[in-house]
Amino acid sequence: MSDLPGCHRYLNRVAPTPLVPVQLDTSLPPVWCKLEFFNPSGSTKDRIARFILEKAWRGGRVTCGSLVAEASSGSTSIALALACAQMGLKFVAVMPEGVSSERVLIIKAYGGEVRHTPKDAGIRGAIAETERLAKENGAFLPRQFANDDNADAHRFTTAREVVDVIPGGRVDAVVSGVGTGGTLVGLYLGCRDVGCAVTPVHARPVNLYGDGDAECCSFSGRIPGVVDRISTIFSEERLPGLLTVEVPDEVAMSTTRKLMKLGFPVGPSSGLNYAAAVEVLKRRGDASWQVVTVFPDRMERYFTTELFGPYV
Ligand code: PMP
Repeated sequence: MSDLPGCHRYLNRVAPTPLVPVQLDTSLPPVWCKLEFFNPSGSTKDRIARFILEKAWRGGRVTCGSLVAEASSGSTSIALALACAQMGLKFVAVMPEGVSSERVLIIKAYGGEVRHTPKDAGIRGAIAETERLAKENGAFLPRQFANDDNADAHRFTTAREVVDVIPGGRVDAVVSGVGTGGTLVGLYLGCRDVGCAVTPVHARPVNLYGDGDAECCSFSGRIPGVVDRISTIFSEERLPGLLTVEVPDEVAMSTTRKLMKLGFPVGPSSGLNYAAAVEVLKRRGDASWQVVTVFPDRMERYFTTELFGPYV
């Protein structure tokens, strides 16, 4: 029996994921890519789900049969549904109507409940419903967009795993798209903790053709998981020397397809991250630079999206 919190004997540890050098352009150094799609539910969000729930368990805020609720339709709800199944907790994912059925089915398969809020109330309507569940039913809320444990999960696991295996333990830059910002802030802090002079880089997807009234380079909402200005974890003050690299969403998509052809079963945010990391290497022009990024999740979540358009 492990010392891990939870009601079930099969509770596993979230194992380290591989870090591999990937070189689509042989005239540039490789990018060091953390293969997060190997995590148990298929995304990097397993790390934050387990970290936050284990901390809550140890702090006595959840125990066998407790209710956990999160307003998310994405990878975080899937990861929480899996972690709750393993730990013996109840899970409710609250999401606006209209979310793709694959995600809903996966959450239900892990024993989670899916509750829909009106579409026009958006994510704020879903958040309000979780607040109600907390107040009336004592539900524990992980609050991924406002909880610093999200960044700590990456600081104490993802970043440590990177510096343990990268040559010389030296990381010169960390690159990530931002949803909650937990990945970028955690990777930056974790590398800095061990003495790396690391530059944080925000990979920002842009729609080069604008959104009607925007003239150029507006944020693009076409990369699932990467969202603009919601999080309170991500802030420029916490990331000194922050660089922002804009990646046209077409480039993010085509890079993702190139990575798939090399045998990496990844989703669109991996292409975004990789393309931004290559841009950092080009701008820096230093062949010894060790740039690290993550491949957050798996391609199977995107069969019905534009990513697979060329193959149907
Ligand atoms: N890629 C995917 C597929 C995601 O689901 C997310 C987060 N929801 C991100 C990237 C961004 O990661 P973070 O939330 O740590 O900023």
